[in-house]
Amino acid sequence: MAEFDIEAASELQDILEEVLNGRPDGHRCPKCGKGTLIAKVEEDVKVRLECPDCRTFFEWRM
Ligand SMILES: [Zn+2]
Repeated sequence: MAEFDIEAASELQDILEEVLNGRPDGHRCPKCGKGTLIAKVEEDVKVRLECPDCRTFFEWRM
């Protein structure tokens, strides 16, 4: 993950939890505040969030 401020990181953590709870849509990008994040869960091992606006993406391994 690239350099990131703490506030945005905790916001991302909340978004990740929502995604894992079956709500992948409609999350605002905490970095640019403009894009709507695209969430993908890959084979139950990886979660990827990508902002189509600023091209930032985040990945978690489970
Ligand atoms: Zn963004």
